[in-house]
Parts: sequence; C-alpha cells; structure tokens
Amino acid sequence: MDLGLKDKVVLVTAGSQGIGLATAQGYHGEGARVAICARGADKLAAAAATMPGCLALQADVTDAAQIEAMTREVAAQLGPVDVLVVNAGGPPPGLFEDLDDAAWLNATNLTLMSAVRMTRAVLPAMRARRWGRIVIISSVGVKQPVPNLTLSNSIRMAVLGWAKTLAQQVAGDNVLINTVCPGFTRTARIEQILGPAGDGPNPAEAAMAAQIPLGRIAEAKEIAGLAVFLGSEVASYMTGTAIAVDGGSARGYA
Ligand code: NAD
Repeated sequence: MDLGLKDKVVLVTAGSQGIGLATAQGYHGEGARVAICARGADKLAAAAATMPGCLALQADVTDAAQIEAMTREVAAQLGPVDVLVVNAGGPPPGLFEDLDDAAWLNATNLTLMSAVRMTRAVLPAMRARRWGRIVIISSVGVKQPVPNLTLSNSIRMAVLGWAKTLAQQVAGDNVLINTVCPGFTRTARIEQILGPAGDGPNPAEAAMAAQIPLGRIAEAKEIAGLAVFLGSEVASYMTGTAIAVDGGSARGYA
C-alpha cells in the first residue's frame, strides 16, 4: 500500500532512540524527508547516520526557546512540517507521596507543555496549507493506569484532553490529530521502569510479559507502525483517536 508519504516533511521529536527513532526510521523508509531532535549530540548523530538525508537538530523539548529555534530550522532547511510526531522521554516513576511540586511541574513541562509548544510552532502552516498530521506518542496508561507511574498516568490524560479538543478545532482545515498508546516496549524507558537487566534475562520483564495476553513486551518498530500509518495520507478519515498498541494488556475496551 502506498502511504502517500513520499517527500512529506516529518519532524519526530526525541528521535535519537527507542520509539522515536523507530518511528523516524519508519517514515524515512516511506520516502519522507525526516528531521529528528534530541538533547545529546552523539546519540543524535548515530541515529541520523541510519537515515541518509535526515536532518538532526539538538534541542531539549522542555525548553520553549529551543523548540522554537528547532522548528524554525526544520522549516528553513526542509520546508513546512507536514507531519509532527510529538515524543519525549517519559516522566519518572513514583508514588504520590514521593512527588513534590517540582516533580509535578517538571513532568508537566516535559509531557504536556512540550506537546503544546511544538504544536503551536507547526500548526499555523498546516492550517494554511490545509494538510497536516499530528501524532502523539502517549502510553497505554491513558487506557488503564500503570501502577507507580503517577506522573505519567496523570499528565498524559491532560495531553489526551487537549489533543481531542484541538482535533475538533482544526479538523475543518484537514489537520488530523491522533494518539498512539504503547504498552511496555523494549527501550531504555523499560529499564527505567523495571530496573537494569544485568547479565541474564530480566526476571521483572518475564513477570511483566506474563501479564500481557500476547505474552511479551513490544519491539519499538511495532509501535512505530501505527505512528507512521496515522501520519499518512491513508489515515485521512481519522482524528481525535487514541489507539493502544499493547499486546492486549489494557483490560478495558482500548
Ligand atoms: P527512550 O528512553 O528509549 O527514548 C526517549 C527519548 O527521549 C530519547 O531519545 C531521549 O534522548 C529523548 N528525550 C528525553 N527527554 C528529552 C528532552 N527533554 N528533550 C529532547 N529529547 C528528550 O524511551 P521510549 O520507550 O522510546 O519512550 C518514548 C515515549 O513513549 C515516552 O514518553 C515513554 O514514556 C512512552 N512510553 C514508553 C513505553 C515503553 O515501555 N518503552 C510504554 C509506554 C509509553
């Protein structure tokens, strides 16, 4: 199937590893002109080297000025962004009593305000050209809260409410906004949640896999498949959705 992504300008934030990198590679494989950003120069360069022609820019998505400069640079070098994939690292785990105001505000800045600011930077040009896709990488925690992920479970619901509201406001300009909700996926984030694997198989991962109907955690490219589809021409009648890619782990209707 032709996804209609050839030569589309796609910006994937936090694209140097994990789900962000797999998503950027997925778009690149479809012939899109891909830009990625992340904080660390070394990982960014290594990621870009896997995608010839990829524009890699250093930017911290918690910093409003850096988002503005980065998105301006993408537009200057590649043209206006057609597809924005909103991605960032996840907020740290923690029980409610472990979290002070600084932890809540930092997580809000990382997860909610980064999405708001990045969208603000690219939305006017999408609306003017009457074509745009915004794909948000969220978590299955918006379908069923993940124990101990207090910040993630809470703030991602705010992102979901914002995305659903905005989707209605901009649908008339053919800008479509959808959310991907990954379950546990083999990336650095999983080590943050489970603890480091050590030498052998991680017993915590085996316990987690046993709770998942498909019996295993996801690979990043399995999440990327939906993130690429939702940014494509083919997904032209979908907006305001939030779709789980979780091996069946959310027990409600996902
Ligand atoms: P990861 O740790 O492998 O990658 C995170 C990326 O974010 C890295 O490239 C890192 O450099 C970048 N990053 C972090 N903070 C940043 C910042 N302030 N500015 C710019 N870049 C920043 O994680 P991942 O598993 O690929 O996670 C991607 C998203 O998916 C996260 O929001 C995560 O919480 C969510 N998620 C992951 C899982 C999972 O099991 N891996 C499950 C559900 C949701």
